[in-house]
Amino acid sequence: MTQPKVRVRFAPSPTGYMHLGNARTAIYNWLYARHHGGSFVLRIEDTDRERSTQGAVEVIYEAMRWLGLDWDEGPFLQSERFELYRRRAEELVASGAAYRCWCTPEELEQRRQQALAEKRNPKYDGRCRDRKEPRPGVEPVIRFRTPDTGETVLEDRIQGRVVTPNEELDDLVLLRADGAPTYNFTVVVDDHEMGVTLVLRGADHLSNTFRQLHIYRAFGWEPPAFAHQSLILGPDRAKLSKRHGAVSVLQYRDEGYLPEALVNALVRCGWSHGDEEVFPLPRLIELFDLPAVGNAPAIFDFEKLRNKYNAEHIKLAPRERLAGLLCETLARRGDANLQADDPRLGLLVDGLRERSRTLLEMADGAKPLLAEEVAWDAAAVRKHLKSDAAEVLRALADRLEAAPSFGREAVLAALDGLAAERGAKLGKIAQPARVALLGTAVSPPIDVVMAVLGRDRVLARLRAGAERAAAG
Ligand code: GLU
Repeated sequence: MTQPKVRVRFAPSPTGYMHLGNARTAIYNWLYARHHGGSFVLRIEDTDRERSTQGAVEVIYEAMRWLGLDWDEGPFLQSERFELYRRRAEELVASGAAYRCWCTPEELEQRRQQALAEKRNPKYDGRCRDRKEPRPGVEPVIRFRTPDTGETVLEDRIQGRVVTPNEELDDLVLLRADGAPTYNFTVVVDDHEMGVTLVLRGADHLSNTFRQLHIYRAFGWEPPAFAHQSLILGPDRAKLSKRHGAVSVLQYRDEGYLPEALVNALVRCGWSHGDEEVFPLPRLIELFDLPAVGNAPAIFDFEKLRNKYNAEHIKLAPRERLAGLLCETLARRGDANLQADDPRLGLLVDGLRERSRTLLEMADGAKPLLAEEVAWDAAAVRKHLKSDAAEVLRALADRLEAAPSFGREAVLAALDGLAAERGAKLGKIAQPARVALLGTAVSPPIDVVMAVLGRDRVLARLRAGAERAAAG
């Protein structure tokens, strides 16, 4: 028998922002689909009309696009499929697998309290299972008839074999009195209708899976395979939450992270390949598969995301792309408004990428090179613009002025030439030059600084620096 084509899905509920746990589920499913040449379906689970918002749906699309997780089918909106769920629920009523229940919320609550007081399981007592006649004035719900005995076995592709006694499960509501379907029902109908072959999601849904398996059986449908990833924890091993740091995906974009770095960090939360840590996306697609996903709780390391993953992916990213991102970041922060094709952007990337852990740090490093005014650091001036520096700076300016062209190479040639002529170390010339050019002794490589400043500014600042040194 040929295996059906791999089809996986990401099925978020749009009730808030997209957090790191959601993102990891989306990434695992996307990678699984890409690795196996399958399809990736996006389904928005917006059946809870009170909690779902259009804004939250947009955030999901935006986060998916930013992460680069393109979907092959969808987005399907469950809110547009109520008629289908209603029809399917009626099928189960007709076959006897589900029934109408007229118990009112007040009655249910009262019976629940009583069961608790008598130390019995407070689950629905099955009172309406065989009731046929409606109760006037009460809109019924549709409930699923869960077997009272036996057990349900799940062969989970990550967690292994998990068994639940059926008596622990409730006769769950499939359709509420107002006709709105519930999560456990819509998820089964949709995963079946959409031909999903593997349900890969967070372990918080593990207990729901048993309920869902019963519904598959009642329809006579073959269930998909299931794989439940262990939850993500913070460094203190508590469930990941806001108090650990940013948990919203788009906040990472705003804080200067590259999407591939966040993807890398999240994939490594539960999946590994030997000792390798930094993975470009194509390599993840090539390597990612379920057997290497562990079932131990995974810890999200915020420090490592910045210091390792983001720093390394900044080193790996194409120059033009970083130039574009730097341009956007500078504009967004009001640091500088450059044209996207400004050649200074590429130079800044060359000079700053090795030392920047985020795009914000890169923008911090770029800002002084783009400023009209020099911001003088008094200590650097005192140290490097002493009177003997005046002559060095003048000589450097003369050399650069005489050079036939201006750019990183010409700058290096002038510095080397001057150092050789005087038998001086390069630093003896470069340090005062740095301070004359930027006001500080800490900066990207001097050739980059000069290339970004441009010939006229460099000559003017070197000569002004010489005067300041002579006067000092
Ligand atoms: N909509 C559910 C959630 O956001 C996920 C459902 C599923 O993956 O089965 O938690």
